This record gives sequence, C-alpha cells and structure tokens, in this order.
Amino acid sequence: MNNEKKYKIIFEKEKCIGAAACTSVSDSWKFDDAEGKTNLLKSRFNPENNTYELEIDESIYEKEYNAARLCPVKAIHIEEIKTKKRVI
Ligand code: SF4
Repeated sequence: MNNEKKYKIIFEKEKCIGAAACTSVSDSWKFDDAEGKTNLLKSRFNPENNTYELEIDESIYEKEYNAARLCPVKAIHIEEIKTKKRVI
C-alpha cells in the first residue's frame, strides 16, 4: 500500500458544534464531553490559522472525506498537499 501522505485534514475547531457526525464515520475523531466539541486525534495545532491539522495517506482518505462532507458547519476541510488544492 502507498503510505505517502497525500492529503491534509484542516479542522476549524472553533466552528465545531459537537454534532458528532465525524466520529460516526472515522476513528480519527473523538468527542470531548467537557468541551462539547470533537478533537482530531494526533493533529498539530497551527497557530497561524487557528486550525488543527493532520497529514493522511489514501487509506483513510475516503472516511475523512465523508467526515468533512457530513459536518453540518463545514469545520473540516481536506487539502491536497502537493498542489495545496482544497478537495472539500
Ligand atoms: S461533524 Fe463537524 S460539528 Fe460535528 S463534531 Fe464533527 S467537526 Fe464538530
């Protein structure tokens, strides 16, 4: 399997309303009861954009795409690393 990290998830946590659609389709997301928001596990905080970011390979791309698609407040984005093009 090709493990090259081709995509980057970009999570705008401040937008998250805790609808938990993302946690139902992907293990990368974990709901935090105390905060009422989800966390993107293993992500790094990017203070420039106030986002949490995680590079992923193609093996979990589809799940993460669905998480982004289902998020009711569009807090989850995916970017192609090489081209910096936003996929969603
Ligand atoms: S689907 Fe969106 S709003 Fe809902 S918990 Fe996930 S990131 Fe937050």
